[in-house]
Amino acid sequence: MLGLLDWWRRRRSRALPFPEAWREVLGRRVPFHARLVGDARARFEEKLKVFFHTKHFIGAGGLEVDEEMKVVVSAAAARLVMNLPGEHYQRLTEILIYPGAYHHGDRDRVVLGEAHKWGTVVLAWDAVRAGLANSQDGHDTALHEFAHVLDVADGAFDGTPVLESHAAYAPWAQVMTREFVRMRGKKALRRKGVLRRYGATNEAEFFAVATETFFEKPRQMKEKHPELYELLRDHYEVDPLAELEPRAEEA
Ligand SMILES: [Zn+2]
Repeated sequence: MLGLLDWWRRRRSRALPFPEAWREVLGRRVPFHARLVGDARARFEEKLKVFFHTKHFIGAGGLEVDEEMKVVVSAAAARLVMNLPGEHYQRLTEILIYPGAYHHGDRDRVVLGEAHKWGTVVLAWDAVRAGLANSQDGHDTALHEFAHVLDVADGAFDGTPVLESHAAYAPWAQVMTREFVRMRGKKALRRKGVLRRYGATNEAEFFAVATETFFEKPRQMKEKHPELYELLRDHYEVDPLAELEPRAEEA
């Protein structure tokens, strides 16, 4: 029943227009939108629109969520799946937004974002903005958390999202494991690499950090981790080095 309702909501939101005011927000806040042309822009805007209309956005810690915040957060979610057919955020129902870094109930430290299995993503608006303002530092809180949501779509935070085919799992495990083990190596932990060291925490964080790096530092990643770059390029069906043009449209 819930599935049918979801389907109906998505269908209805697809029929709604994409407001010009949103493009103005994207122009100011989401630099990569300007690089999208033609079909790529249309695909991205459609995913953004459906996300915007089908998820609940809730302000926390005194923050009042406005339309601009919703557009920006939806843009991050849409960027990951813009070239993928179908719906990838079924499990996600609500996005909780704090004004800045917040204390997680059962942890001592402050956090910038979290993704929960039961369908909630928590974001610090400051961190979302900072991630977008510097689009080449390999750190983007919103992309990171939405990568976790894609990871858990199959029910487990294990660094493996739902892949396009059965045959894709073996090469995925091979490359991911090799790269993860390499990062966990003592030498790698001592020196600064292209991927943020937080990725060495576990497989789930490795996938989320690799995703941020893929979109924000494609050149360095392709140079230092070519297999990982290719794996993510095939998975997301997007090549950030080629100005986000999908591979299927390459001559
Ligand atoms: Zn994480």
